[in-house]
Amino acid sequence: MGFRNSPPIDETPAQRSKRLTAEAKARVDACPVKETNLSNISRNAKKVRTYVQLDWDWETRITWLTFGELCLRTNDRRDGRWELGARFAYGATDFEHDSIWACKVPLIGVEFEWADSHSFRFHGFVDPSLDVTDRHNGFYVPKPGYDPRKHPKTAECKDQRCKGDKPFPHLIVPEGFYVPPFDPELYKLVAGKRVEIIAGKARDEDS
Ligand SMILES: [Zn+2]
Repeated sequence: MGFRNSPPIDETPAQRSKRLTAEAKARVDACPVKETNLSNISRNAKKVRTYVQLDWDWETRITWLTFGELCLRTNDRRDGRWELGARFAYGATDFEHDSIWACKVPLIGVEFEWADSHSFRFHGFVDPSLDVTDRHNGFYVPKPGYDPRKHPKTAECKDQRCKGDKPFPHLIVPEGFYVPPFDPELYKLVAGKRVEIIAGKARDEDS
């Protein structure tokens, strides 16, 4: 952290508030991890909303991920490892007709904090122990703008057995997009960082 100049002593409360807001925005803009809104590729984001906030450093917190329905689960061994995830919006599957994912983030140290008015808060840390040479290591977080439905090889399902499903025809994304591809550079930026997860009803300004 660099040395910071003292605020001007004749600053009014309104000027102070404006300065602090501008400084906070500058810190977020300088953060190499970009805010990634997955609302349009995740499920039920008009009804429910999940925010994953990342503590980038001691004074900078960004809303790293925003999406609809939250999935947060540990494994059968209860070994302290967790997976945070968002299923992909309805209407797109992989070639085996399995539902696909908008993101998955391996976490450790997950703790439940509180529930109030049907909002739920948890915190944890991005698992720092993943093998960056293994692209199937469990960290599948896209950059802003990810949408495999727009991939040139995405096609409509022609299987008659799907005819009764809604929506039909659904889209089939190419092989390799069951989850977003592993991004080692993004993983190195966030590995070990603390995240706060808030899940609740969508607010009016979210829709
Ligand atoms: Zn189908």
